[in-house]
Amino acid sequence: MSKIRLRIPPSPTGLLHIGTVRTALYNYLFAKKNGGDLVLRIEDTDKTRGTTAFEEDIINGLQQLGLAGNEGVHVGGDYGPYRQSERTEIYQNYLKQLLDEDKAYFCACSKERLEEVRNEQMAKKLPTRYDGHCSKAKEANGVIRLRVPNDRGDITWMDLVRGETAIHAKELDDFVIARSIDDPLYHLTVVADDHDMKISHVIRGEDHISNTPKQILLFEAFGWDLPQFGHLPLILNQDKSKLSKRKNKVSMDDFLGEGYLPDALLNFLALLGWNTPDEQEIFSMEELVEKFSLDRVHKGGAVFDLKKLDWINGEYIKTMIRENIDGFYEIAKVFIVGAVSNEDEGLIKKILQDPDFEGRFKKLSEIPEGLEPLFAELPDYPLELIAKEKFKITPEMLKQVMEKAIEVVENLEWKKGDVSKNQGISEAFMGIVSALELKNGQVLWPIRVALSGLERSPNFATLAVYLGKEEVLKRLKVALEKVDG
Ligand code: GLU
Ligand code: ZN
Repeated sequence: MSKIRLRIPPSPTGLLHIGTVRTALYNYLFAKKNGGDLVLRIEDTDKTRGTTAFEEDIINGLQQLGLAGNEGVHVGGDYGPYRQSERTEIYQNYLKQLLDEDKAYFCACSKERLEEVRNEQMAKKLPTRYDGHCSKAKEANGVIRLRVPNDRGDITWMDLVRGETAIHAKELDDFVIARSIDDPLYHLTVVADDHDMKISHVIRGEDHISNTPKQILLFEAFGWDLPQFGHLPLILNQDKSKLSKRKNKVSMDDFLGEGYLPDALLNFLALLGWNTPDEQEIFSMEELVEKFSLDRVHKGGAVFDLKKLDWINGEYIKTMIRENIDGFYEIAKVFIVGAVSNEDEGLIKKILQDPDFEGRFKKLSEIPEGLEPLFAELPDYPLELIAKEKFKITPEMLKQVMEKAIEVVENLEWKKGDVSKNQGISEAFMGIVSALELKNGQVLWPIRVALSGLERSPNFATLAVYLGKEEVLKRLKVALEKVDG
């Protein structure tokens, strides 16, 4: 059996797209699982739209995700990146071959003529197709069309995802494979490349299904063996329309820029059109390679569920903080440094690891806001917040609580960030409840608000530990002034 070889063939017409990554990932998993190879090929024949900046973005992105480069696919030598723009001569030779063998012909029909034919066919409710007008022409000018054999019949293939798939022969015409001898079009270049690069499996998005019969016809014209084809479900917006920039973030840069971790994104994308029978949600890369199979790829469209991505990302953040805080900080740093006034790395790491902060961050971009109560200036909160109605706190009570709290803190000693003092601080504040014979909420709510100035924040003891004694006293006094004033 010949070697299993797959390909990742992005067109550099935009930033690395999330759909490209999903396709690349499925190719990667299939190749890895089956001991095959993966080839990176830049489909840059469209000179008007392609740019080197996009190409760089795509290659870097795939490398960062481990889907290209040493981690995943070997890039170099036999594995690419190939560039179609560097293969023009090869395509020319293949075109010549088809013309010589009369399997392709030049067509010099004008736009107007083609339009006319089309309109007539539409009027007669016939499928619109090229009418073969130039199929006997001898002159070498115009576009080049593939001659589809009259007796070809329906085109069927066993799709690796969708099963038996058929396209009626009458839906196919002598389609254009090149604008001229040195301007080949997608179908020709892709078939030439898949053959030359010994691709055994073509796994790509469902939007390519209508291309497959044309490409099969080209393989047949050359007399080459067919690869196997598999078409992955479309990625959809929440409203089930095809994933679009208008309704979703779609570029990988946007996701990384917002603080999604590369591994979490891959985990999420793996589930965008595939699952295990037990609906496992979190996978290591090794597990994905082990468990992935094309027959569990869904046929129906895959809805892009941002909430699920957030959840998965939050889980990855939690795990990474627990298992590798230094590595985590390195990645998170770009979001934190500059956004938080105190850049004491040791203290920030401790806070991130604090059980009271666990699960608070779904994205790295949320970290600065989460650290705000500990690092930002105390916000100027209103009296109603600290004397929250539901706890029935009177001004008199509030005053007593703050005075008592100041007294308690003055008698405590702790070093900023010393988590081992959390319990002691907590108990000392709790002591105020019994000392003043009040309810928990009447004491602990105002203290927490005094320390954070916020409706929501970590609990009072955690705040106190990380703010440090001096800042805690300062904040309690601000509260006292508020109630006194
Ligand atoms: N370059 C094509 C694209 O980006 C891929 C074609 C293929 O997979 O055959 O859509
Ligand atoms: Zn013609």
